[in-house]
Amino acid sequence: MPDSKKPCAGAMKLIDLGAQQDRIRRQIDKAIARVLDHGQYIMGPEVGELEAQLATFSGAKFVLTCASGTDALTVSLMAAGIGRGDAVLCPAFTYTATPEAAVLLGASPVFVDIDEQTFNVSLEGLEAGIQTAKQNGLRPAAIIAVDLFGLPADYRKLEKFASDRSLLLICDAAQSFGASIGSRRVGAFGDVTATSFFPSKPLGCYGDGGAILTNNESIARLCDSIRQHGKAKGADKYNIERVGLNARLDTIQAAVLLEKLAIFSEEISVRSAVASRYTAGLQSSVIAPYETADARSVWAQYTIRVDSAIRDSVIEKLKRDGVPTAVYYPRPIHVQAAYSSFPRAGTGLAVAERASAEVLSLPMHPYLDADQQDYVIDRVRAAVRG
Ligand SMILES: *Cc1c(COP(=O)(O)O)cnc(C)c1O
Repeated sequence: MPDSKKPCAGAMKLIDLGAQQDRIRRQIDKAIARVLDHGQYIMGPEVGELEAQLATFSGAKFVLTCASGTDALTVSLMAAGIGRGDAVLCPAFTYTATPEAAVLLGASPVFVDIDEQTFNVSLEGLEAGIQTAKQNGLRPAAIIAVDLFGLPADYRKLEKFASDRSLLLICDAAQSFGASIGSRRVGAFGDVTATSFFPSKPLGCYGDGGAILTNNESIARLCDSIRQHGKAKGADKYNIERVGLNARLDTIQAAVLLEKLAIFSEEISVRSAVASRYTAGLQSSVIAPYETADARSVWAQYTIRVDSAIRDSVIEKLKRDGVPTAVYYPRPIHVQAAYSSFPRAGTGLAVAERASAEVLSLPMHPYLDADQQDYVIDRVRAAVRG
Protein backbone atom coordinates (compact mmCIF):
# COMPACT_ATOMS: atom_id res chain seq x y z
CA MET A 1 0.00 0.00 0.00
CA PRO A 2 1.11 3.59 -0.50
CA ASP A 3 2.30 5.37 2.58
CA SER A 4 -0.53 6.79 4.57
CA LYS A 5 0.51 10.43 4.83
CA LYS A 6 -2.24 12.88 4.05
CA PRO A 7 -1.97 14.20 0.50
CA CYS A 8 -1.07 17.87 1.03
CA ALA A 9 -2.95 19.55 -1.83
CA GLY A 10 -5.67 21.19 0.30
CA ALA A 11 -8.49 19.58 2.21
CA MET A 12 -10.14 16.66 0.47
CA LYS A 13 -13.78 17.21 -0.48
CA LEU A 14 -16.62 14.77 -0.82
CA ILE A 15 -17.53 16.55 -4.08
CA ASP A 16 -15.09 19.19 -5.35
CA LEU A 17 -17.04 21.82 -7.27
CA GLY A 18 -14.15 24.27 -6.89
CA ALA A 19 -11.74 22.12 -8.91
CA GLN A 20 -14.24 21.92 -11.74
CA GLN A 21 -14.84 25.66 -11.60
CA ASP A 22 -11.10 26.38 -11.80
CA ARG A 23 -11.07 24.43 -15.06
CA ILE A 24 -14.00 26.15 -16.80
CA ARG A 25 -14.28 29.51 -15.02
CA ARG A 26 -13.40 31.57 -18.10
CA GLN A 27 -16.03 29.87 -20.25
CA ILE A 28 -18.64 30.24 -17.46
CA ASP A 29 -17.88 33.95 -17.06
CA LYS A 30 -18.30 34.48 -20.79
CA ALA A 31 -21.51 32.45 -20.93
CA ILE A 32 -23.06 34.45 -18.08
CA ALA A 33 -21.89 37.71 -19.66
CA ARG A 34 -23.68 36.77 -22.90
CA VAL A 35 -26.95 36.37 -20.97
CA LEU A 36 -26.42 39.74 -19.26
CA ASP A 37 -25.84 41.26 -22.71
CA HIS A 38 -29.00 39.91 -24.34
CA GLY A 39 -31.11 40.27 -21.20
CA GLN A 40 -33.57 37.40 -21.84
CA TYR A 41 -33.39 36.04 -18.30
CA ILE A 42 -36.49 33.85 -18.62
CA MET A 43 -36.74 31.29 -21.46
CA GLY A 44 -33.83 32.93 -23.29
CA PRO A 45 -32.05 31.24 -26.21
CA GLU A 46 -29.71 29.22 -23.97
CA VAL A 47 -32.71 27.31 -22.57
CA GLY A 48 -33.73 25.95 -25.98
CA GLU A 49 -30.10 25.28 -26.92
CA LEU A 50 -29.57 23.31 -23.70
CA GLU A 51 -32.76 21.30 -24.24
CA ALA A 52 -31.63 20.38 -27.77
CA GLN A 53 -28.21 19.30 -26.52
CA LEU A 54 -29.67 17.30 -23.62
CA ALA A 55 -31.95 15.49 -26.09
CA THR A 56 -28.98 14.60 -28.30
CA PHE A 57 -26.93 13.53 -25.29
CA SER A 58 -29.59 11.33 -23.71
CA GLY A 59 -31.47 10.04 -26.73
CA ALA A 60 -34.78 11.35 -25.35
CA LYS A 61 -36.98 12.94 -28.03
CA PHE A 62 -38.28 15.75 -25.83
CA VAL A 63 -36.51 17.66 -23.06
CA LEU A 64 -38.15 20.36 -20.96
CA THR A 65 -35.89 22.05 -18.45
CA CYS A 66 -37.39 23.24 -15.20
CA ALA A 67 -36.56 24.95 -11.94
CA SER A 68 -35.49 21.88 -9.92
CA GLY A 69 -35.55 18.11 -9.89
CA THR A 70 -38.47 18.31 -7.48
CA ASP A 71 -40.39 20.44 -9.98
CA ALA A 72 -39.53 17.94 -12.72
CA LEU A 73 -41.24 15.23 -10.64
CA THR A 74 -44.19 17.47 -9.76
CA VAL A 75 -44.80 18.59 -13.34
CA SER A 76 -44.53 14.97 -14.58
CA LEU A 77 -47.11 13.77 -12.05
CA MET A 78 -49.42 16.69 -12.89
CA ALA A 79 -49.11 15.90 -16.62
CA ALA A 80 -50.13 12.31 -15.84
CA GLY A 81 -53.16 13.55 -13.90
CA ILE A 82 -52.03 11.89 -10.66
CA GLY A 83 -54.12 13.01 -7.70
CA ARG A 84 -56.58 12.01 -5.01
CA GLY A 85 -57.14 8.26 -4.69
CA ASP A 86 -53.99 7.37 -6.61
CA ALA A 87 -51.15 5.30 -5.20
CA VAL A 88 -47.62 6.16 -6.29
CA LEU A 89 -45.20 3.34 -5.53
CA CYS A 90 -41.80 4.64 -4.35
CA PRO A 91 -38.73 3.01 -2.84
CA ALA A 92 -38.37 3.70 0.89
CA PHE A 93 -34.64 4.37 0.53
CA THR A 94 -34.45 7.68 -1.33
CA TYR A 95 -34.33 11.44 -0.93
CA THR A 96 -37.42 13.22 0.41
CA ALA A 97 -38.24 14.76 -2.95
CA THR A 98 -39.26 11.41 -4.48
CA PRO A 99 -42.58 11.01 -2.61
CA GLU A 100 -43.10 14.73 -1.92
CA ALA A 101 -44.83 15.69 -5.17
CA ALA A 102 -47.28 12.79 -4.92
CA VAL A 103 -48.39 13.95 -1.47
CA LEU A 104 -48.69 17.59 -2.55
CA LEU A 105 -51.00 16.51 -5.39
CA GLY A 106 -53.28 14.61 -3.02
CA ALA A 107 -52.04 11.13 -4.02
CA SER A 108 -50.56 8.63 -1.57
CA PRO A 109 -47.08 7.20 -1.77
CA VAL A 110 -46.85 3.49 -1.01
CA PHE A 111 -43.36 2.68 0.23
CA VAL A 112 -41.64 -0.33 -1.25
CA ASP A 113 -38.46 -2.16 -0.27
CA ILE A 114 -35.24 -2.06 -2.27
CA ASP A 115 -32.95 -4.66 -3.77
CA GLU A 116 -30.08 -5.68 -1.48
CA GLN A 117 -27.37 -5.22 -4.12
CA THR A 118 -28.45 -2.22 -6.19
CA PHE A 119 -30.27 -0.12 -3.53
CA ASN A 120 -32.98 0.40 -6.18
CA VAL A 121 -36.65 -0.56 -5.96
CA SER A 122 -37.35 -4.31 -5.89
CA LEU A 123 -39.87 -5.96 -8.20
CA GLU A 124 -41.19 -8.24 -5.44
CA GLY A 125 -41.63 -5.13 -3.32
CA LEU A 126 -43.60 -3.44 -6.10
CA GLU A 127 -45.85 -6.48 -6.48
CA ALA A 128 -46.58 -6.35 -2.74
CA GLY A 129 -47.06 -2.57 -2.93
CA ILE A 130 -49.80 -2.95 -5.52
CA GLN A 131 -51.73 -5.27 -3.16
CA THR A 132 -51.17 -2.87 -0.26
CA ALA A 133 -52.46 0.03 -2.35
CA LYS A 134 -55.65 -1.88 -3.21
CA GLN A 135 -56.19 -2.95 0.41
CA ASN A 136 -56.02 0.75 1.32
CA GLY A 137 -58.65 1.65 -1.27
CA LEU A 138 -56.13 3.31 -3.56
CA ARG A 139 -55.79 2.94 -7.33
CA PRO A 140 -52.24 1.84 -8.24
CA ALA A 141 -51.35 4.58 -10.74
CA ALA A 142 -47.59 5.05 -11.02
CA ILE A 143 -44.16 3.85 -10.02
CA ILE A 144 -41.40 6.33 -9.29
CA ALA A 145 -38.20 4.31 -9.72
CA VAL A 146 -35.06 5.95 -8.30
CA ASP A 147 -31.56 5.48 -9.73
CA LEU A 148 -29.83 5.71 -6.37
CA PHE A 149 -26.21 6.88 -6.25
CA GLY A 150 -26.21 7.05 -10.06
CA LEU A 151 -26.98 3.40 -10.90
CA PRO A 152 -30.03 3.07 -13.17
CA ALA A 153 -32.86 0.96 -11.77
CA ASP A 154 -33.53 -2.30 -13.61
CA TYR A 155 -35.53 -0.61 -16.38
CA ARG A 156 -35.61 -3.62 -18.69
CA LYS A 157 -37.72 -5.46 -16.10
CA LEU A 158 -39.47 -2.35 -14.78
CA GLU A 159 -40.74 -1.28 -18.20
CA LYS A 160 -42.40 -4.66 -18.73
CA PHE A 161 -43.70 -4.79 -15.15
CA ALA A 162 -45.28 -1.34 -15.48
CA SER A 163 -46.80 -1.83 -18.92
CA ASP A 164 -48.24 -5.28 -17.99
CA ARG A 165 -50.06 -3.58 -15.11
CA SER A 166 -50.91 -0.31 -16.88
CA LEU A 167 -48.83 1.69 -14.42
CA LEU A 168 -47.07 4.88 -15.40
CA LEU A 169 -43.29 4.52 -14.99
CA ILE A 170 -41.58 7.70 -13.83
CA CYS A 171 -37.79 7.59 -13.52
CA ASP A 172 -36.30 9.71 -10.74
CA ALA A 173 -32.93 10.20 -12.39
CA ALA A 174 -31.86 13.10 -10.17
CA GLN A 175 -28.65 11.21 -9.37
CA SER A 176 -28.16 9.32 -12.62
CA PHE A 177 -28.19 11.68 -15.58
CA GLY A 178 -25.40 10.40 -17.85
CA ALA A 179 -25.75 6.75 -16.77
CA SER A 180 -26.82 4.00 -19.16
CA ILE A 181 -28.03 0.44 -19.58
CA GLY A 182 -26.57 -1.23 -22.66
CA SER A 183 -26.70 1.38 -25.41
CA ARG A 184 -29.62 3.31 -23.86
CA ARG A 185 -28.97 6.34 -21.72
CA VAL A 186 -31.00 7.58 -18.77
CA GLY A 187 -33.76 9.83 -20.11
CA ALA A 188 -34.98 7.29 -22.64
CA PHE A 189 -36.47 4.81 -20.14
CA GLY A 190 -40.01 4.54 -18.80
CA ASP A 191 -42.75 7.05 -19.65
CA VAL A 192 -41.02 10.11 -18.28
CA THR A 193 -37.73 10.91 -16.56
CA ALA A 194 -37.09 13.66 -14.03
CA THR A 195 -33.54 14.80 -13.38
CA SER A 196 -31.89 17.44 -11.21
CA PHE A 197 -29.13 19.96 -11.82
CA PHE A 198 -28.66 20.72 -8.10
CA PRO A 199 -24.99 21.83 -7.81
CA SER A 200 -23.65 18.56 -6.37
CA LYS A 201 -25.38 16.22 -8.82
CA PRO A 202 -23.17 14.73 -11.56
CA LEU A 203 -24.34 17.47 -13.98
CA GLY A 204 -25.07 20.46 -11.75
CA CYS A 205 -25.63 24.17 -12.27
CA TYR A 206 -24.93 27.07 -9.87
CA GLY A 207 -28.35 27.08 -8.23
CA ASP A 208 -31.46 24.97 -8.60
CA GLY A 209 -32.37 23.34 -11.89
CA GLY A 210 -33.85 20.21 -13.41
CA ALA A 211 -35.29 18.65 -16.53
CA ILE A 212 -38.04 16.36 -17.76
CA LEU A 213 -37.14 13.92 -20.53
CA THR A 214 -39.59 11.80 -22.49
CA ASN A 215 -40.24 10.16 -25.83
CA ASN A 216 -43.98 10.78 -25.45
CA GLU A 217 -45.10 13.87 -27.33
CA SER A 218 -48.36 14.41 -25.45
CA ILE A 219 -46.61 14.19 -22.05
CA ALA A 220 -43.98 16.63 -23.35
CA ARG A 221 -46.61 19.14 -24.48
CA LEU A 222 -48.41 18.98 -21.15
CA CYS A 223 -45.17 19.38 -19.19
CA ASP A 224 -44.17 22.35 -21.34
CA SER A 225 -47.49 24.02 -20.57
CA ILE A 226 -47.52 23.15 -16.85
CA ARG A 227 -44.01 24.51 -16.21
CA GLN A 228 -45.18 27.86 -17.66
CA HIS A 229 -48.35 28.44 -15.59
CA GLY A 230 -50.42 26.22 -17.89
CA LYS A 231 -50.20 28.48 -20.92
CA ALA A 232 -51.53 27.25 -24.28
CA LYS A 233 -48.91 26.07 -26.76
CA GLY A 234 -47.58 28.80 -29.02
CA ALA A 235 -49.94 31.32 -27.43
CA ASP A 236 -48.99 34.41 -25.46
CA LYS A 237 -48.58 34.00 -21.74
CA TYR A 238 -52.04 35.36 -20.98
CA ASN A 239 -53.77 32.42 -22.67
CA ILE A 240 -54.08 29.82 -19.91
CA GLU A 241 -55.63 26.41 -20.50
CA ARG A 242 -54.81 24.59 -17.26
CA VAL A 243 -53.53 25.23 -13.76
CA GLY A 244 -49.75 25.09 -13.84
CA LEU A 245 -46.68 26.20 -11.97
CA ASN A 246 -43.86 28.65 -12.29
CA ALA A 247 -41.22 25.97 -12.84
CA ARG A 248 -38.89 27.31 -15.54
CA LEU A 249 -35.10 27.04 -15.56
CA ASP A 250 -33.35 30.45 -15.46
CA THR A 251 -31.46 31.36 -18.63
CA ILE A 252 -28.28 31.97 -16.62
CA GLN A 253 -28.41 28.41 -15.26
CA ALA A 254 -28.93 27.08 -18.79
CA ALA A 255 -25.83 29.01 -19.90
CA VAL A 256 -23.81 27.48 -17.03
CA LEU A 257 -25.09 24.00 -17.89
CA LEU A 258 -24.09 24.33 -21.55
CA GLU A 259 -20.49 24.86 -20.45
CA LYS A 260 -20.63 21.95 -18.00
CA LEU A 261 -22.26 19.63 -20.54
CA ALA A 262 -19.29 20.26 -22.86
CA ILE A 263 -16.98 18.43 -20.41
CA PHE A 264 -19.54 16.01 -18.97
CA SER A 265 -18.69 12.94 -21.08
CA GLU A 266 -15.07 13.18 -20.10
CA GLU A 267 -16.00 13.67 -16.44
CA ILE A 268 -18.17 10.55 -16.58
CA SER A 269 -15.20 8.48 -17.79
CA VAL A 270 -13.02 9.81 -14.99
CA ARG A 271 -15.72 9.12 -12.37
CA SER A 272 -15.89 5.59 -13.65
CA ALA A 273 -12.10 5.20 -13.41
CA VAL A 274 -12.16 6.51 -9.82
CA ALA A 275 -14.88 3.99 -8.94
CA SER A 276 -12.90 1.12 -10.47
CA ARG A 277 -9.77 2.05 -8.53
CA TYR A 278 -11.77 2.30 -5.29
CA THR A 279 -13.45 -1.04 -5.87
CA ALA A 280 -10.17 -2.81 -6.69
CA GLY A 281 -8.66 -1.47 -3.45
CA LEU A 282 -11.66 -1.89 -1.18
CA GLN A 283 -13.62 -4.96 -2.20
CA SER A 284 -11.73 -7.30 0.11
CA SER A 285 -12.38 -5.03 3.14
CA VAL A 286 -15.94 -3.70 2.74
CA ILE A 287 -19.02 -4.33 0.61
CA ALA A 288 -18.24 -2.30 -2.52
CA PRO A 289 -21.00 -0.91 -4.75
CA TYR A 290 -22.71 -3.35 -7.06
CA GLU A 291 -21.76 -3.21 -10.72
CA THR A 292 -23.03 -5.11 -13.74
CA ALA A 293 -21.51 -5.41 -17.17
CA ASP A 294 -24.70 -3.94 -18.50
CA ALA A 295 -25.70 -0.96 -16.38
CA ARG A 296 -23.17 1.85 -16.15
CA SER A 297 -23.48 4.09 -13.11
CA VAL A 298 -22.57 7.77 -13.29
CA TRP A 299 -21.27 7.52 -9.70
CA ALA A 300 -23.13 10.40 -8.09
CA GLN A 301 -21.91 8.75 -4.89
CA TYR A 302 -19.49 5.92 -4.22
CA THR A 303 -21.26 4.16 -1.39
CA ILE A 304 -19.81 1.26 0.58
CA ARG A 305 -21.49 -0.80 3.30
CA VAL A 306 -19.87 -1.46 6.65
CA ASP A 307 -21.16 -3.27 9.72
CA SER A 308 -23.63 -0.95 11.47
CA ALA A 309 -21.86 -1.59 14.79
CA ILE A 310 -18.66 0.07 13.55
CA ARG A 311 -19.99 2.71 11.11
CA ASP A 312 -19.79 5.61 13.58
CA SER A 313 -16.22 4.78 14.53
CA VAL A 314 -15.22 4.39 10.86
CA ILE A 315 -16.69 7.84 10.14
CA GLU A 316 -14.83 9.31 13.13
CA LYS A 317 -11.48 7.76 12.17
CA LEU A 318 -11.79 8.87 8.56
CA LYS A 319 -12.67 12.38 9.71
CA ARG A 320 -9.51 12.46 11.82
CA ASP A 321 -7.52 11.34 8.77
CA GLY A 322 -8.98 14.13 6.64
CA VAL A 323 -11.30 11.90 4.61
CA PRO A 324 -14.82 13.37 4.47
CA THR A 325 -17.75 10.94 4.30
CA ALA A 326 -21.54 11.20 4.30
CA VAL A 327 -24.47 8.94 5.09
CA TYR A 328 -27.15 8.94 2.37
CA TYR A 329 -29.61 8.34 3.95
CA PRO A 330 -29.47 7.93 7.72
CA ARG A 331 -33.24 7.28 7.91
CA PRO A 332 -35.46 5.70 5.26
CA ILE A 333 -38.40 7.84 4.19
CA HIS A 334 -41.10 5.78 5.91
CA VAL A 335 -39.70 6.58 9.38
CA GLN A 336 -39.59 10.35 8.72
CA ALA A 337 -42.28 12.15 10.71
CA ALA A 338 -43.82 13.64 7.55
CA TYR A 339 -44.16 10.28 5.81
CA SER A 340 -44.67 7.74 8.57
CA SER A 341 -48.44 7.51 8.12
CA PHE A 342 -48.41 6.40 4.47
CA PRO A 343 -48.84 2.73 3.52
CA ARG A 344 -45.89 0.37 3.35
CA ALA A 345 -45.77 -2.64 1.05
CA GLY A 346 -46.81 -5.78 2.93
CA THR A 347 -43.46 -7.53 2.55
CA GLY A 348 -41.85 -4.91 4.77
CA LEU A 349 -38.96 -2.52 4.37
CA ALA A 350 -36.19 -4.43 6.14
CA VAL A 351 -33.63 -4.06 3.33
CA ALA A 352 -34.07 -0.28 3.25
CA GLU A 353 -33.77 -0.10 7.04
CA ARG A 354 -30.57 -2.15 7.06
CA ALA A 355 -29.09 -0.08 4.22
CA SER A 356 -29.67 3.12 6.23
CA ALA A 357 -27.66 1.65 9.09
CA GLU A 358 -24.74 0.44 6.93
CA VAL A 359 -24.14 2.83 4.02
CA LEU A 360 -21.21 5.23 3.88
CA SER A 361 -20.36 7.45 0.92
CA LEU A 362 -16.72 8.30 0.16
CA PRO A 363 -15.23 11.28 -1.70
CA MET A 364 -16.28 10.96 -5.36
CA HIS A 365 -15.71 13.49 -8.13
CA PRO A 366 -13.68 13.69 -11.35
CA TYR A 367 -10.90 15.79 -9.82
CA LEU A 368 -9.55 13.24 -7.30
CA ASP A 369 -6.01 12.34 -8.25
CA ALA A 370 -4.55 8.84 -7.93
CA ASP A 371 -2.70 9.68 -4.69
CA GLN A 372 -5.88 10.94 -3.07
CA GLN A 373 -7.78 7.84 -4.16
CA ASP A 374 -5.07 5.56 -2.80
CA TYR A 375 -5.06 7.52 0.44
CA VAL A 376 -8.83 7.08 0.81
CA ILE A 377 -8.50 3.35 0.12
CA ASP A 378 -5.69 2.97 2.63
CA ARG A 379 -7.53 4.90 5.37
CA VAL A 380 -10.84 3.06 4.84
CA ARG A 381 -9.05 -0.29 5.06
CA ALA A 382 -7.34 0.79 8.26
CA ALA A 383 -10.57 2.18 9.75
CA VAL A 384 -12.56 -1.03 9.24
CA ARG A 385 -9.69 -3.18 10.58
CA GLY A 386 -10.30 -1.50 13.94
C1 LIG B 1 -31.66 15.60 -5.56
C2 LIG B 1 -32.78 14.66 -5.70
C3 LIG B 1 -34.08 15.08 -6.03
C4 LIG B 1 -34.50 16.51 -6.10
O1 LIG B 1 -33.78 17.36 -6.89
P1 LIG B 1 -33.77 18.93 -6.58
O2 LIG B 1 -33.18 19.48 -7.85
O3 LIG B 1 -32.92 19.13 -5.39
O4 LIG B 1 -35.16 19.37 -6.38
C5 LIG B 1 -35.06 14.12 -6.26
N1 LIG B 1 -34.78 12.82 -6.11
C6 LIG B 1 -33.57 12.37 -5.77
C7 LIG B 1 -33.33 10.90 -5.65
C8 LIG B 1 -32.52 13.27 -5.52
O5 LIG B 1 -31.32 12.81 -5.16
